[in-house]
Amino acid sequence: LDEGGVEVEKEEVDLYSLTREVCSRLAHKAEKHSVHVEVSGEPVSVVGIRQVLNEMIYNICENAIKYNKLGGKVDVWVGRTLKGVKVIVTDTGIGIPEDQQERIFERFYRVDKSHSKETGGTGLGLSIVKHGALLHNATIHVDSSLGKGTRMELTFGKEKEDKGQVS
Ligand code: ATP
Ligand code: MG
Repeated sequence: LDEGGVEVEKEEVDLYSLTREVCSRLAHKAEKHSVHVEVSGEPVSVVGIRQVLNEMIYNICENAIKYNKLGGKVDVWVGRTLKGVKVIVTDTGIGIPEDQQERIFERFYRVDKSHSKETGGTGLGLSIVKHGALLHNATIHVDSSLGKGTRMELTFGKEKEDKGQVS
């Protein structure tokens, strides 16, 4: 796969252990926000670009911690379903208003700038997730309830792995 002149190689990646690694790297952030993170599931491999997958899962989990409530929870599940391999991240955080749930995937888009200022960030995280998903024939789906929490579902389809197109 040749992305803009940079050679990147797809390899078999165990999403479960990758997710565990990512979450342990985020442990200090979770502690700072008094958020409890739990990872469950089973070893599942996908063919992909390790560094990109790493970045995607990192951004989703980081958000679930950053936009949570004091003493909140983040549940991460990785496994196989009838629809494909999934990474599901559920948080008990502030939630995202219905009318902005699609916009959060745009570059630099942040909900409620004043609130987001405290948490810090550039608003690029989820656009990286979106582009990473395209590279892997995956989809990212958000389901959120304001004040209650958010569920992010990353699904790797069962179609033959091939070159993704990023436009
Ligand atoms: P960066 O990830 O670049 O550090 P960011 O977190 O602001 O900055 P994104 O990860 O792209 O950027 O998220 C965009 C916006 O979507 C966030 O600013 C936040 O308002 C909202 N958001 C994302 N994930 C969640 C979540 N789990 N709960 C509530 N709001 C969220
Ligand atoms: Mg982010």
